[in-house]
Amino acid sequence: MGEGIIVFSVDLELSWGLARAEHAASRRLMSRLGGSGEVLAEFLGLLDRLGLPVTWAIVAATLTDPRDSVRLAILEQALERGAEVCGSGEEGVCIRDAFHHRDAGSDQMGSGWLNPALASQISEAATGHELACHSFCHLDFSRPTVTRQAASTELDLCLEAFSAAGHRRPVSFVFPWNRVAHLDLLAEKGFLAYRAPAARRNLARFGLGYLLDPESNVSRVGAQPTQGGHPLMGIPGTVPISWAVSQTRTRMKAKLALKSLERGGGGLVHFYTHSHDIVHESSRKTLETILRTAREACRREQVRVMTMRQVAEEELAERK
Ligand SMILES: [Zn+2]
Repeated sequence: MGEGIIVFSVDLELSWGLARAEHAASRRLMSRLGGSGEVLAEFLGLLDRLGLPVTWAIVAATLTDPRDSVRLAILEQALERGAEVCGSGEEGVCIRDAFHHRDAGSDQMGSGWLNPALASQISEAATGHELACHSFCHLDFSRPTVTRQAASTELDLCLEAFSAAGHRRPVSFVFPWNRVAHLDLLAEKGFLAYRAPAARRNLARFGLGYLLDPESNVSRVGAQPTQGGHPLMGIPGTVPISWAVSQTRTRMKAKLALKSLERGGGGLVHFYTHSHDIVHESSRKTLETILRTAREACRREQVRVMTMRQVAEEELAERK
């Protein structure tokens, strides 16, 4: 891969990733997610107009139809299991309790917890988006109490939920909180790619040096060999887009990273964000600006915008 590649991935987690948020602003954002369907639908329309594909890593529990008692029972069991493996006061318990205390009426379609219509809109969009997986209940795989068996069950639930909702089997995975664990299990279940943390070289840079060095936002694509010899591509997330950080700083980093790609020599810039960052106006505006800049770079044919699946499939084919 000699040319520059841009990847956009969105963790489509709705309320699942915010349940433990102690931050008042996060809680306010969570309360707005029930009405996020419209904002996200509008955003999908923009992606169609720009013709840019995005990897949407979905918390598979959101695929549950609230009117389907069988699937609701499966979800309840998974929440109990999540709470059990995390222990009291930990994420699993917080998520279970927050789900059970969800606002009256929020178990309707379009809620911040269960929203199977959203994934269908993504699959049916004119631009070929990828529906990837962000776990079943937003379980933190890196916890020592999350055994191989618990991680395996969580992954099986994801695959089953995708299949029951009529979606293509996912091949890309994003770990909740980007905390990577049980990688070889991922490969065993047929995944081809995951979003890897940024390289240490990138993390080691702070302050102005980090901001001004475009190279710190560009990564090489690299396969992480796993036990058992299954190929699994680690696609590092390089530029986060978040409502909680300075938008000026993010825009500047994005501009420098894209410029660096256009100078040639290949490499990959991976912008990653969350559904709540799209609902939040300030980060959505930043994302839209970056998408338009990426579109222009594609027009000049120096770079390509690809999904995680496309990057993994192309890279693995080249290695054969
Ligand atoms: Zn998440």
